[in-house]
Amino acid sequence: MKICIDAGHGLGNRNAGYDPGAVGGGLEEADIALAWALTGKWVFERAGIDVFLTRSSDAESAPVGGRDDEARHAGCTHFVSIHCNAAGWTVRGTETIYRDARDKPWAELVQGAAVMAVRSSNRGVKQESSIIREGKPLRLSVLDFPGPACLLETAFISNGSDRVRLVSRAVRIAFWEGLARRLNA
Ligand SMILES: [Zn+2]
Repeated sequence: MKICIDAGHGLGNRNAGYDPGAVGGGLEEADIALAWALTGKWVFERAGIDVFLTRSSDAESAPVGGRDDEARHAGCTHFVSIHCNAAGWTVRGTETIYRDARDKPWAELVQGAAVMAVRSSNRGVKQESSIIREGKPLRLSVLDFPGPACLLETAFISNGSDRVRLVSRAVRIAFWEGLARRLNA
């Protein structure tokens, strides 16, 4: 088992420029995702779980269309992409997006650990094709990864109480420790 942790957005998206992702309350999604990924590497390595990061700093380029291939070449068996959601300021909660039945158990494992750690509302796991954006079913390139893959929308950067959770180191540690426990069970 080797887990790819992909910190969403950052350098390399959108014509190799820097993509901050969603912005809320003076925070950028790319920074939060990176903090979560770095904590994940630290927690997982202590738990004896191999980890690969698609980017480990805001200066490291990771073209968004190539992150699944990078993980495959690094020998990863599982892929989790870390993001923050954004909507109107009253919307809050955690959700996980997956592509097909093969990915669903992994998405449920990730969602379960995230809900326990973030303690916002549980928006459940969602199949990618059920989400319509700009008139078309969503198609996320990171979910092209050949093994179990999912995209975790940790919480809403656009919501004040969710933001407190997103920047909490204790929440990040609780998430990855919870996921490590589930993986080692
Ligand atoms: Zn995102």
